[in-house]
Amino acid sequence: MDKYYKRTSKSPIDSPSQESHEVDIVEQEPPSDPALRPPISQYNPNERDRIRRFYLVKGPCQPNNHDFPQRDIGGTMRRFNKDWFKPDQYGSWLEYSIDKDAAFCLCCYLFRPENLGSGERTNFIGEGYRNWKNKKRFDEHVGDTNSWHNQAWRKSLDLLNQRQCIQTVFEKQTVRQKMDYRVQLNASVDCARFLAKQGLEFRGHDESESSINKGNFLEIRSIDEFLNC
Ligand SMILES: [Zn+2]
Repeated sequence: MDKYYKRTSKSPIDSPSQESHEVDIVEQEPPSDPALRPPISQYNPNERDRIRRFYLVKGPCQPNNHDFPQRDIGGTMRRFNKDWFKPDQYGSWLEYSIDKDAAFCLCCYLFRPENLGSGERTNFIGEGYRNWKNKKRFDEHVGDTNSWHNQAWRKSLDLLNQRQCIQTVFEKQTVRQKMDYRVQLNASVDCARFLAKQGLEFRGHDESESSINKGNFLEIRSIDEFLNC
């Protein structure tokens, strides 16, 4: 990604009723720590998908080597368990903020609906989740197939697939253009060789579009193109 974004305290864009920040393009990578990221809604609407792709390609923020701090929760010292980052647990979406000692969800950060309110559905966004005693909340956050989380997860996959489709079309187009160019070049070289060998002139007296004889080179090339159509 060649452009990154930074918040500035200028005029509101998306939430005129709230404190808001205009986002300017700067040569700076968006913050990794999930607690330090601006809400997606505060980015320019035209740039949000670019920001989303950046985070999706980078993957969830999972500082495996961090020394996770302990806290007294219900009389027991507990800490974030890095095994939760494993692919067979919550590794596809779970993030950890070193700044807040809290867990977050990447896809919900990227695609959470506006004005979701508070409560269960916002456990892993906003302030994050940090009750290490209650791991059940992780599963409850994922929920059923139509949960907010799974809707956000599907949108994340769609965005990545969309990008892959566009890239594939572009690459196919590029390959076809290269092949077409090579065919045209080879035909022109063959034509030039023939004219040179026969000692014939390349150019005609009138090579305009309306001319009935544009000269040897263009006339042979036009016959060649006609035969190859
Ligand atoms: Zn989620």
